[in-house]
Amino acid sequence: MRHINVPVFVPHLGCPNKCVFCDQRAISGVSYFSEDDACAVIDETLTTVGDGDECEIAFFGGSFTGIDRDLMIRLLDLAEGYVKAGRVTGIRMSTRPDYIDPDIIGILKRYTVRAVELGIQSMNDRVLALSKRGHTAADTARAAGLLRDAGIPLVGQMMVGLPGSTPRDEVDCAEKICSLGAAACRIYPTLVFRNTELCEMMNRGEYVPLTVDEAVMRSADALSVFARHGVGCLRIGLCDSERLSNDGDFVAGPRHDAMGELVKSELYRRAMKRELDSLEKEGKLTGSVEISVPKGDLSAAVGHKGRNRAEILASYPINSIVFLEKHSILWYNVEVRLI
Ligand code: SF4
Repeated sequence: MRHINVPVFVPHLGCPNKCVFCDQRAISGVSYFSEDDACAVIDETLTTVGDGDECEIAFFGGSFTGIDRDLMIRLLDLAEGYVKAGRVTGIRMSTRPDYIDPDIIGILKRYTVRAVELGIQSMNDRVLALSKRGHTAADTARAAGLLRDAGIPLVGQMMVGLPGSTPRDEVDCAEKICSLGAAACRIYPTLVFRNTELCEMMNRGEYVPLTVDEAVMRSADALSVFARHGVGCLRIGLCDSERLSNDGDFVAGPRHDAMGELVKSELYRRAMKRELDSLEKEGKLTGSVEISVPKGDLSAAVGHKGRNRAEILASYPINSIVFLEKHSILWYNVEVRLI
């Protein structure tokens, strides 16, 4: 069964926050969001899903629990109508940690809310302050606790490459998201968009965006933490449909259409290297090898444009590699056998 999010983008009109990377503030105050449009978008998306698909209406794009309260409730009522009609199985939303409080939880509990995606971004207060997020790591811990007590699953969204953030901070953030009980995560390398404070910081030489390679390494470090804790990753990198503004607003940073695949490939590269290094140390590595990877991850293991395969063949005394998929292997693990 496929899980499908039916996305409804609700811009946070008049958002009072000033996150340095955010280009949604440029459109704040423009009330182009229409509830009729929401219905049309949901209906249209639902025509494209299969009978066996599990669909959820997903209020993304801003801080859903921070928008006008009446509008939020009307949208929840609208979405619940689709749940009651059996057309979707639930509702999810993205929001900020400081927009979760007991009142909001009380409202969400009246609806079939399957997950709240928190824009945690970092668990380091210095990084949060440099990014002008306007909330602290303690706000995130408190919000996660409220969601946990209410039985609402948490999806933790984090960023890599924020101003002042180090690889260590990002691994630490991933560890803390796991310890807060997240059911899943999303990892977003920081991008620079026009009309953002981050763009001005970059132009003043105060911020240097990550390269694609750096973003891949740092996202892979975070992903390996999530994988170790059994926390699934829903997405790595923004997809165009997650953005509200134009493609032309992208200025700089590690944007790559296959960012998720590159990051997964990096974890497979590390896993294969570990196994092959150990065989080589024992003096057993020769001839051909069979590398088994989890079902569905063959292309990630072979690498973008065959990069992992080429690197292994160039680095070890072997003639050929046969890749296999096996159900029994856990995410980002491999089995290597000499053949
Ligand atoms: S990222 Fe969200 S909270 Fe921050 S300024 Fe943009 S809309 Fe507001």
